[in-house]
Amino acid sequence: MNSEFPAGVLFSSRVSGVGDLAGCLADLRFKERNESVRLLQYALQREGLLAASDVTGFFGNRTKRAVYEIFPDGLQVKNLPKIGLSTLSAAKVVRLDAPIAKGKVTYGYGIRNKRYIAGFHTGSDYAAPAGTPVYAIRSGRIEWAGSSKSGFGRWIGLRADNGRLYVYAHLLSHSVRAGQSVLAGQVIGAVGSTGTATGPHLHLEDHPPGRFVYGNTRRPQW
Ligand SMILES: [Zn+2]
Repeated sequence: MNSEFPAGVLFSSRVSGVGDLAGCLADLRFKERNESVRLLQYALQREGLLAASDVTGFFGNRTKRAVYEIFPDGLQVKNLPKIGLSTLSAAKVVRLDAPIAKGKVTYGYGIRNKRYIAGFHTGSDYAAPAGTPVYAIRSGRIEWAGSSKSGFGRWIGLRADNGRLYVYAHLLSHSVRAGQSVLAGQVIGAVGSTGTATGPHLHLEDHPPGRFVYGNTRRPQW
């Protein structure tokens, strides 16, 4: 196994209680190709350090340069949360912190408003410039991707690996198709203002297992 990272950089001894983090870092080796590398690359892409075409699953020189650009001390468990890789298990990112980079909820779930057919805001809004990439918050399968006939505009339904259905609405574009498997952190579309929207933002909904039913939501968590 050829690794240019010193062993102490790849393996942190301070990983007790963090599940399989050490195991995941063990996968992140120079010249290796695997899904853990791909997840790291998605994270580096989110930071603007890798192009989409560099997300190959192969840990080559561009990935290595990107790692050292953001972490002069290399890949360590303590650094991973800084690029959104906060919960790793069995070589997979279980969840992202937010559906857009550094995303903050700008209009909360449940706010009463007669403007909505349900009478309340059925999701969480993340305001962001049009074209901002939106990410799969968990791994899963795309249930649909396209234009709705409703106020949701262009939308995506993501059936996540926790069984729940996450709906992304008002998108400018989508970059996935129905039936496609996606990994947490993968770009699936871009923020827009299609449908009923006063400005560009992502509207994210969290539905229970089963088919989509308007208004059958909870405050998004994943
Ligand atoms: Zn909304």
